[in-house]
Amino acid sequence: MKSFCFSHEPIDTTVFRDALTNPQSGGYTSFEGWVRNHNEGQQVSRLEYEAFEPLAVKEGERIVAEAIKRFGIERAACVHRVGSLAIGDMAVWVGASARHRDEAFRACRYIIDEVKHRVPIWKKEHYENGDSGWVNCERCAAPGEHETHEHTHAAHSQDDNDHSHGHAGHSHDHSAPKLVPDYSRQMALKEVGAAGQAKLRNSRVLVIGCGGLGAPVLTYLAGAGVGRLGMVDGDKLEASNLHRQTLFALADVGEHKAILAADRLRALNPEVDARAYTIRLNAENATELVGEYDLVIDCTDNFSTKFLLNDVCVRLGKPVIFSSVYQYEGQLQVVRPDRGGACLRCVWPEATRDGLVGNCAEAGVLGPVPGVFGTLQALEALKTLLDLPGQLGNELLVLDLLMLTVSRVRIKRAATCPDHASSRIIRPLDTSAAAAAAAEPLELSFDSLDEAEVQGLSVIDIREARELVEQPTPTGNGRHIPMAELLHGGHELAPAGKYLLICASGRRSLAAAEELRSRGQQHVYSLKGGVAGLARRSLI
Ligand SMILES: [Zn+2]
Repeated sequence: MKSFCFSHEPIDTTVFRDALTNPQSGGYTSFEGWVRNHNEGQQVSRLEYEAFEPLAVKEGERIVAEAIKRFGIERAACVHRVGSLAIGDMAVWVGASARHRDEAFRACRYIIDEVKHRVPIWKKEHYENGDSGWVNCERCAAPGEHETHEHTHAAHSQDDNDHSHGHAGHSHDHSAPKLVPDYSRQMALKEVGAAGQAKLRNSRVLVIGCGGLGAPVLTYLAGAGVGRLGMVDGDKLEASNLHRQTLFALADVGEHKAILAADRLRALNPEVDARAYTIRLNAENATELVGEYDLVIDCTDNFSTKFLLNDVCVRLGKPVIFSSVYQYEGQLQVVRPDRGGACLRCVWPEATRDGLVGNCAEAGVLGPVPGVFGTLQALEALKTLLDLPGQLGNELLVLDLLMLTVSRVRIKRAATCPDHASSRIIRPLDTSAAAAAAAEPLELSFDSLDEAEVQGLSVIDIREARELVEQPTPTGNGRHIPMAELLHGGHELAPAGKYLLICASGRRSLAAAEELRSRGQQHVYSLKGGVAGLARRSLI
């Protein structure tokens, strides 16, 4: 029997099926394609298939041989009807027998997909309204081998009129084979299986931040078949993001990252319900958004968002996976309020403020560093959703990727944690900062540092030495005390002195000013917008 053939009569599957039986085979699978009564919104009454048989058979046999080799199966065959078919008739049959069912399924699908794509077969649909049209013509099919093209020219001339008619009413998309995600490689794990896959399909994961951490998180979770993936990011793509944010292309610069990410994920896995939120997470929107998901992953680089997420997730009892990256190091923490675990505030009782740890723009980062941590977040997310053993709980995983050292630090629920106080009432995030700000502003704006000095402020540049090499302090009178030295190096500032702290963007200087204020230094301020802000103003 030929492995691929055409039939002018209704297909008798028993003959073909019997030819595939084999004592080696423990699995047999078949596919039947039937004529349906509608296509692209039109009511179909019947249809006709036509093929240039010598070439089509050759290509069909090649496809079956590929499938046998590729999936290591025993036997396979495919039969395609030609001529006039009624609704419900079988148009194509594929069968495969193999030692194991998985290969049989996969080979079967490979054959039908490739036949749809590569074998030159034309279909003419007859509609209820008396019209007719060709679909799957050679111009719709993906470019095949040269022989296919030679053949299609010959066939085209036979039916020129009908072809042009068909094109008027049909897009070119309809001949593309329907591709289906394949989770077999993860389902093969006994801890996952069909039950685990169903759990993932029914899961809803919210990812905050579509950057260097978010890229691997989103990619792996979409690939794994997580049913709904929400992604929150108010930023637009910048070219400097691309070395670590692998979801995007250079041509996308200037577009919303959340929208780009959702598009990319839909292309990766159309089964995923990818929802883009081009917003910044805040106290007003966080509760409602988090409430729609089962698990939250923090992929941001700012502490106010992390603490906000922590508070909301503790209150709603949702697991949240945190990661922070600084230059070559980073850490991972999984907070499980649903299991009574420690939270972010248990570990960082004095609210770590933005800027105490530099962000990527200020501190610099190699792309794979957030890549590793995002990948670990994706892994912990899957372990959580699938309830696999070995989950990171009440521990802080700290990795130094430069020296390749790993440590796991045990953490406990802290009695002093505001989220874990008996009342469990969420303290507004920035009460203390707001109170301090009301008493005296923390941030000041100036057009130049000369202006600040005229007002009696001593300028302290808290950037790192190498930052000053690139961009020196824009005043001759300023002192240079790197942030860590200023805060932890035993530097004594005059108690009544007036100081203006400056850094690249104003984030670190704000954090340092807040910290010094909390230590009783009353007249310390941060330059709003940092050196970058001064540079911008000087251009105006
Ligand atoms: Zn806590």
